[in-house]
Amino acid sequence: TKKVIIVGGVAGGATAAGRLRRLDEKSHIIMFERGEHVSFANCGLPYYIGGAISKREKLLVQTVEAMSKKYRLDIRNLSEVVKINRDAKTVLVKNIKTGEQYEESYDDLLLSPGAKPVVPPIAGIAEAEQLFTLRNIPDTDRIKAFITEKQPKSAVVIGGGFIGVEMAENLKELGLDVTLVEMANQVLAPLDYEMAAIIRQKLSHHGIKVILEDGVQELQENGRQIILKSGGKLAADMIVLSIGVKPENKLAEDSGLTIGERGGIVVNQYLQTSDPSIYAVGDAIEVTDCVSGKPALIPLAGPANRQARIAADNISGRKKTYAGTLGTAVVKIFDYTAASTGNNEKTLRRYGMDYRTVHLHPGSHAGYYPGATPIHLKLLFTPDEGKILGAQAIGKSGVEKRIDVIATAMKGGLTVFDLTNLELSYAPPYSSAKDPVNMAGYVAANIIEDGIKTIQWHEVDEVIQSGGLMLDVREPHEQQGGMIENTRNIPLGQLRERLDELPKSEPIYIHCQVGLRGYLAVRILLDNGFDAVNVDGGWVTYSLAT
Ligand code: FAD
Repeated sequence: TKKVIIVGGVAGGATAAGRLRRLDEKSHIIMFERGEHVSFANCGLPYYIGGAISKREKLLVQTVEAMSKKYRLDIRNLSEVVKINRDAKTVLVKNIKTGEQYEESYDDLLLSPGAKPVVPPIAGIAEAEQLFTLRNIPDTDRIKAFITEKQPKSAVVIGGGFIGVEMAENLKELGLDVTLVEMANQVLAPLDYEMAAIIRQKLSHHGIKVILEDGVQELQENGRQIILKSGGKLAADMIVLSIGVKPENKLAEDSGLTIGERGGIVVNQYLQTSDPSIYAVGDAIEVTDCVSGKPALIPLAGPANRQARIAADNISGRKKTYAGTLGTAVVKIFDYTAASTGNNEKTLRRYGMDYRTVHLHPGSHAGYYPGATPIHLKLLFTPDEGKILGAQAIGKSGVEKRIDVIATAMKGGLTVFDLTNLELSYAPPYSSAKDPVNMAGYVAANIIEDGIKTIQWHEVDEVIQSGGLMLDVREPHEQQGGMIENTRNIPLGQLRERLDELPKSEPIYIHCQVGLRGYLAVRILLDNGFDAVNVDGGWVTYSLAT
């Protein structure tokens, strides 16, 4: 019988173990897990801390006993694999409880050791008793116990990624005074600046103090006093450190497996490492970014689960390949949802890729049916073929559905033109006959097919400062809600009659509320021999970002 050893018993490891058993009743499958728990809900941890998930046992999706029995697995928790002897095809295992070490042989080895929180060498960090990171059940228990016993009044969350934002929200829900500190000029790195600005405002609106472009220099008074790089000081009863994760690659590295430029274990399309008997999946590996084609670390549960199934298939003799990761992700921020897929503008720029952008703010469903709320949607695509490069969306309702549709379109190699032809479900409480995804396709297609010129929110001030003519085509009363300085106002309804007020000698930059009337105005002007440019996303994108 074949003997398979799995290192790591949570997302990737447990999924692979189950699949391996389903494909082969006879093989001997040993799953080693360093911690006490296997197959727990890491993604649910912040919500247990905040109280949305009230019962701890709900986090324990499987127990060692139940899972061993269900899949006839040899699960050994509190067991760390400390060494791989590739020549002998054995692993050295340390029993965490007894300290005893022993060897175990394998035919195939699957590594799913995950990623661990980055803890930088900040002065005073070792003495900070109320500083926490969050990865597993013991971390969660520690945070929960601290909150129950010590009743902290204030918390500082360091790092504004997914986990940081989720923890800030959950601690706020518990009634703490929360400050979020982030080194970059925005939270949630997968989003672009102007989209993340919406989330920053949301966090502030809910009473979370957001400090951007600043980091922790030093911790004093056992972590009660945080000295920021800017010189500022923060006092905190507790600190959550969530500045990112890094692959647990030491075991792989020590055994001579190839580690990539990003620090993850290198695998081929079959998820084999540089040693064909050793497979690796999950947060510990480098994947190919589907859009840029470059190696990337994308620590998400969906990819880990899918990779685990593919690796198990390959170990069982079915040839399956992993085609790379889009990075589709979603996060809750109070009553908002933010989701994204593919590359963002920052990444495309970094790789020198040519792209175009559109911003839209369609309703989540038909405006005449009660309760519609805007979806702030951004689509990135190639200027000629309209290949979809990425998308981001934020709003209260229907956000992740739109991103998932676009992610599926990207996976299938569809273009922005194909988005215009997607047949999506519609009834007034759910969508519009032109779904926001169709709309994104139309706006993008207008740019490519009809050469409609646009400028982005960050170019507006420059146009005005250099004396460009900015025309606001909204109704005058809409300007009371805010307006771009130094613009002329001709409402769209009067434009055809007032064309003689406009010059033909220079470009006319047009903006409306969300971009649609601006586009209509551009069409009218172009047809009358003017040079017209639309402000993409209109006043809404401009005002949210600036
Ligand atoms: P893990 O699930 O981390 O499993 C690795 C296991 O291997 C660990 O338990 C570790 O103890 C064990 N291990 C490591 N080395 C050894 C060794 N040498 N011997 C024995 N055992 C070892 N992703 C999403 O997509 N959506 C979310 O909402 C989301 N929320 C998250 C919230 C939190 C708080 C955290 C921490 C993560 C979240 N993630 C989320 C990420 C997701 O949990 C990971 O992408 C996923 O768990 C990765 O699976 P993995 O198998 O690679 O690693």
